[in-house]
Amino acid sequence: MKILVVGGGGREHALVWKIAQSPLVKKVYCAPGNPGTAGLAENLPIRADEVGKLLEFAWNEGIDLTVVGPEQPLSLGIVDTFENHDLKIFGPHQQAALIEGSKAFSKDLMRKYNVPTAAYGVFSDIGEAEAFIDRTGLPIVIKADGLAAGKGVIIAQTRQEAVDTVTDMLSGNAFGSAGSRVVIEEFLTGEEASFLAITDGKNIIPLASAQDHKAIFDGDQGPNTGGMGAYSPAPVVTREIHEIAMRDVLRPTVDGMAAEGRPYRGVLYAGLMVKDGKVKTLEFNARFGDPECQPLLMRMKSDIVPLLLAAASGDISGMDIEWHDRAAVCVVMAAEGYPGEYRKGDAISGLADAAKLDDVYVFHAGTAQDGGRCVTNGGRVLGVTAMDDTVEQAIARAYQAASVISWPGVQFRTDIGRKAIGR
Ligand code: ATP
Repeated sequence: MKILVVGGGGREHALVWKIAQSPLVKKVYCAPGNPGTAGLAENLPIRADEVGKLLEFAWNEGIDLTVVGPEQPLSLGIVDTFENHDLKIFGPHQQAALIEGSKAFSKDLMRKYNVPTAAYGVFSDIGEAEAFIDRTGLPIVIKADGLAAGKGVIIAQTRQEAVDTVTDMLSGNAFGSAGSRVVIEEFLTGEEASFLAITDGKNIIPLASAQDHKAIFDGDQGPNTGGMGAYSPAPVVTREIHEIAMRDVLRPTVDGMAAEGRPYRGVLYAGLMVKDGKVKTLEFNARFGDPECQPLLMRMKSDIVPLLLAAASGDISGMDIEWHDRAAVCVVMAAEGYPGEYRKGDAISGLADAAKLDDVYVFHAGTAQDGGRCVTNGGRVLGVTAMDDTVEQAIARAYQAASVISWPGVQFRTDIGRKAIGR
């Protein structure tokens, strides 16, 4: 089988790594890929949002299955386009990807189908927004409606900050048309967890639990990033919380999407806030999380390809996923300055030494090949991922690997996974 993976970050390197292990697979392509995927797949000079070129390649090459990593091509309708040409593709249709592409849509869906979530309002008028802010109190959460690469959420501590943020978003200054409507919602406290499942629109197979670390600094301090590390399993998702999430979040959402005439097929990612045995939904994403994908796929024992293929064909009934009964931890190594302006082009040392360590895999994200050297080329550069019997041992193994890798200005959190030990 020939498989095409769309995207070029750490998540896509992990997907390529896992897919390439399948005995069903003869060749993997990755568009555009990165220096990490180049060792396992043939990288193509096509960006993830160039849907027409991806289609042309898949058609000419006779690709048996395309797997979409990032959200933009999904929102652009890559799944519809491929299916119109009888090409199999894993991911939600454009109308279903709206669950991530519009926070107003996703909140309204949750309200309609009684999925627990924070109280909210959707506004395009500043006066009405101000009245809602006054009624709700502080802190308060302001979200641009559309896709904003994980940066469209502001937690305002003062009334002034809240009003300024809404004004900025509505004026189009902050996020262009993605901010022409804002969702304003109640601030929730608790511990976050990432709950991912594969669905064909009817059946739901949950993945193992995971937890992301969004803030740039230790102790969840500083601005939010795309994710500075993740681990699986996440003990905050007890058996009871798992059942509540399946019953109150995933099931009504999948059924609700079908009832809305937008059957959802692909990975459905629910960002949960867990507190006192209760679950509220922060958001939905229409794809694997990055970096949660890295530890999740390292723990996945089953061949992922039959599952992706079945979901793309619309029937996963009777399928199951087996997991390694071990923990996996991914530590993201980032460039100096990230998540703001960051340095690029620094030579990375130690990759070969890290590769020699057992049960460690270094997933590339923002790297580039410069002659014989591998250099930094993005904010999040590497996802150093390790597996071991306990989460404590996996943390130690991941940090041991991170300690042999270096470049000028490298930064990473030193507390990835610590919350799991705290429990
Ligand atoms: P990403 O693309 O990184 O997944 P996003 O832009 O889609 O993020 P959300 O996941 O909705 O945005 O919010 C980002 C983060 O903001 C959440 O992970 C959480 O830490 C915080 N957050 C969002 N909503 C709330 C809320 N109601 N109360 C408290 N914190 C919140």
